[in-house]
Amino acid sequence: MQTIDAQTFVYEGRRYRGTAAILPDTGQVVSTVPVEQYLYSVVSREMPRSWPAESLQAQAILARTYVLQRSNPNRAYDLVPSEADQVYTGVDAEAPQTNAAVDATAGQALRFGAGFASIAYSSCCGGHTESSADAWGGKPLPYLSGVACNYCKDSQWYRWTQTVAADALRSALGNQSAAIGDLQSITLDAPDGSGRARFWTFTGSSGSARIKAADVRRTIGSRVIPSLLVRKADYDSTAQTATIEGAGLGHGVGFCQWGARGLAKTGANAAAILAFYFPGTTIGST
Ligand SMILES: [Zn+2]
Repeated sequence: MQTIDAQTFVYEGRRYRGTAAILPDTGQVVSTVPVEQYLYSVVSREMPRSWPAESLQAQAILARTYVLQRSNPNRAYDLVPSEADQVYTGVDAEAPQTNAAVDATAGQALRFGAGFASIAYSSCCGGHTESSADAWGGKPLPYLSGVACNYCKDSQWYRWTQTVAADALRSALGNQSAAIGDLQSITLDAPDGSGRARFWTFTGSSGSARIKAADVRRTIGSRVIPSLLVRKADYDSTAQTATIEGAGLGHGVGFCQWGARGLAKTGANAAAILAFYFPGTTIGST
């Protein structure tokens, strides 16, 4: 770690705003940086700088809300710089367009009632955002119950078709794989309110097994099955592959990034975009 001046330091080859110190007990490097300066780097990593200013502003408000929610005076730090919180790689990631979005929304955060809203976002919802309770359990939140979204069609992941080999499908079956015999078909059932099937049933020559869709995706991999909005799964027993058709990329809860881009192109401002994906919330000052 190298201090450049009172406002900048270098760590592992990257320049960061703020100051840094090493925690004596754990050896962790902790940086202290003003929220708005932290957001310059974060927003540019979360959304392409070439996207409409209103969509970048909506993303900036969400990223700020996330920080304020996580702020914890009882811990030595508030956030980690990875996807576990938000990707933060310092000054070199910054761009004039995303810095402008942070500046234009300075101090604004998404509120629900007296507190901050719980925020979530993913790349492309595929046509309907997911409810937080269906995705992750917990108490249903009125502003995270899912909305129909017609604005993310420009994403290359709005509709997708993936081919999955029998071996991968069998891995999703785990110790039930042997019991069902030769795999013959896959059916999807129990759709939630957004249309995402909760279960996949694998039928074989000697039985069937019903597996939670989220577990299937986790085992096979979120790159192979980009979202849980799966519309069709056709198994070809001759080729021993399944053709999976689906929609969207990511968990689909909350803010649809490609949808925000589409909404901005229709003339919606950041407040209207956020009101669409988080109905009942308001934008307040921090
Ligand atoms: Zn969408």
